[in-house]
Amino acid sequence: MKIAVLQKPCDIELREVEAPKLVADFDVNSVLVKVRACAISGTDLRIYRGIVRTKYPIILGQEFSGVVEDYGEEVENISKGERVVIEPVVRCGKCSYCKIGLYTLCDNVRVLGVNADGGLAEYVKVPEYAIHRIHNNLSLEEASLTVPVAVALYAIKRAHVGIGDNVVVFGAGAIGLSALQLARLSGADKVAVIEPVASKRKLAEKLGAYETFSPKEITGESMRKDLGKINVVIETSGSVDALHRSINIADKKGRIVVVGAYGKEALLPTDLVVRKDLTILGSWLYPHVFQEALSLIAKRLISVKEYVSSKYPLIRIKDAFEEALKPETIRVLIDL
Ligand SMILES: [Zn+2]
Repeated sequence: MKIAVLQKPCDIELREVEAPKLVADFDVNSVLVKVRACAISGTDLRIYRGIVRTKYPIILGQEFSGVVEDYGEEVENISKGERVVIEPVVRCGKCSYCKIGLYTLCDNVRVLGVNADGGLAEYVKVPEYAIHRIHNNLSLEEASLTVPVAVALYAIKRAHVGIGDNVVVFGAGAIGLSALQLARLSGADKVAVIEPVASKRKLAEKLGAYETFSPKEITGESMRKDLGKINVVIETSGSVDALHRSINIADKKGRIVVVGAYGKEALLPTDLVVRKDLTILGSWLYPHVFQEALSLIAKRLISVKEYVSSKYPLIRIKDAFEEALKPETIRVLIDL
């Protein structure tokens, strides 16, 4: 089978290797998936550029879907050819966190495509619990974009976004645009999006943003004038400056959810956090919300098709990464 391997930062190549097989008496709870669609995510790009370190060589790709090729003898209620999307979080099942259901916090957690081989391969072997069946009305391509929706859904739940809240979202990538749509779905009154790239701001407006701003043009005062109040800030951009601004623009008693990965420590106005009585919440992965995220896409309550900027076959993986690195790109999809 063909795989795309990242040898070291900025060095990805196509290779031909033997396809994985399920081993009798060993892979009893595993499913072999023939990958059909895999999106290149922001995390893929950070690993590709060497900002997030991992063990090389690695097969990237956390956002992927496909069809069931084979399954172990203890896997029930499944059939060959069934369409599935992968929740790429592999846990040990034995640590204190796993034992109480906090599987994303597993002491031995591995995320496929980050610190274990992911979806940029024709076949991937995954644990049974990682597969979610795709609704009949949903394409494999749309379903492959469940991960960013699930990330945003967990962040929105962390912030308890509800009726009448005014929300500011930093970043109009796939996670930010999903947070925008989910905040509106949760009853938020006004959702504003801050994003430097004009085409992404335009898409945010199409997807329901009350207003969009370039980071250059905002101050806490100007935003409050436009929005009236700012109860919740969702920071998805991964920019330390955005986190700094989040603390500045949030109202007193505001909730700030940090989704972005910074790759470095940040100097923040901590006295302001205290004096404004702010709540700052970390939001890691997407525990127990993946199925809900998938259902919201299937019910057409969340739209993901706009995220796909272009599609490439696996053999053009180098071109695909070049395209994905452009600031205006949201998701490049690899068709397998
Ligand atoms: Zn564990």
